[in-house]
Amino acid sequence: MLNKEKQIYLSPPHMSGREIAYMQQAFEENYISTVGSNILNFEKQLAKITRARSTVALNSGTAAIHLALKVLNVQAGDEVICSAFTFVATANPVLYVNAIPVFIDSEPETWNMCPQALEEAIQDRLKTGRKPKAIILVHLYGMPAKLMEILAIAHFYQIPVIEDAAEALGSTYLNKPVGTFGEMGLYSFNGNKIITTSGGGALVSDNSEYTKRALFLATQAKDPAPHYQHSEVGYNYRMSNIAAGIGVGQLEVLQERVKKRRAIFEFYQNRLGKHDFIQFQPEPTEAFSNRWLSCFILAPNQSVTAQKIHFALAAESIESRPLWKPLHQQPLFAHYPYYGQNVAEKFFQRGLCLPSGSNLTDSDLERIVQIIKNEIRR
Ligand SMILES: *Cc1c(COP(=O)(O)O)cnc(C)c1O
Repeated sequence: MLNKEKQIYLSPPHMSGREIAYMQQAFEENYISTVGSNILNFEKQLAKITRARSTVALNSGTAAIHLALKVLNVQAGDEVICSAFTFVATANPVLYVNAIPVFIDSEPETWNMCPQALEEAIQDRLKTGRKPKAIILVHLYGMPAKLMEILAIAHFYQIPVIEDAAEALGSTYLNKPVGTFGEMGLYSFNGNKIITTSGGGALVSDNSEYTKRALFLATQAKDPAPHYQHSEVGYNYRMSNIAAGIGVGQLEVLQERVKKRRAIFEFYQNRLGKHDFIQFQPEPTEAFSNRWLSCFILAPNQSVTAQKIHFALAAESIESRPLWKPLHQQPLFAHYPYYGQNVAEKFFQRGLCLPSGSNLTDSDLERIVQIIKNEIRR
């Protein structure tokens, strides 16, 4: 008998059991706050995994985006190009610095920023005499964007790229970790991400001047002086040594987590992908996704819809989630420029994220698939 009562979440934390020892060490050393060996160790291990030259551990991914914009000196009234199909945290920091987000639609091959729409946007903004200050490129649900095409455009027009790899730690593009292609990249370690520090983030770069500046701003922008001296606005964005302890334990199992998430995706695809009206998020040959979330879209005009599947799962205490509502359709951002063909809108209308946590069991997965199959047969 399948257990009908068990609640299944979309992407819950999955502890390895080793985190507690690192937290314990922080308690023993009495380094509980924003200095300590776990932080340094976390940054070192993250650098090793991502092969980024420099890393700075922060208290959220959102903070990392905010700092990246500050490091690039994005100012009030500047324009920042941004993926439209993403979580609101990608674009909120653009508003923190009073800049103007310019949203770019998705392409169907990775669901990420469309290179054609990007170039169209840049050319159009240039015509108005406004050169975008930065591009925030998202690797959605862990899937690497079309980096080659987008970087070529960014280099041609000389616009720095910030990679929002919040969902994509462990993903690679041409065997190189995503987050390390642009001027800066960032990861999130929120509780629902592939690994967690409880809450946290990191900024990475091959340019250590960038991360040095980010660290300075993240720790209240304290000038070098014996007293507390400040010449510019700073932030309180540093990761704590306790959170970093969780992170060190989690980084040790990242590869296992990626393997399991990919296996979950394979399971769904094998069991549901035979229906030609179900299309899972594609993975081009040059890309390797951590498959943070397993997501699909349904063909239009089917009797089964993403909403019906969502509610059928919810009735059995199983959490699923619609794909991100494109940001240019959010009331918060509706009046900002947008370039594209409404590809992401269709994804939003027809798509769903399935439970993808690395602690799912085979019987959990079987239960989820049976409910979806029943809904298809209806
Ligand atoms: C989670 C997430 C963020 C924000 O990370 P936090 O650590 O929650 O601040 C940013 N962008 C994307 C795409 C995310 O999924």
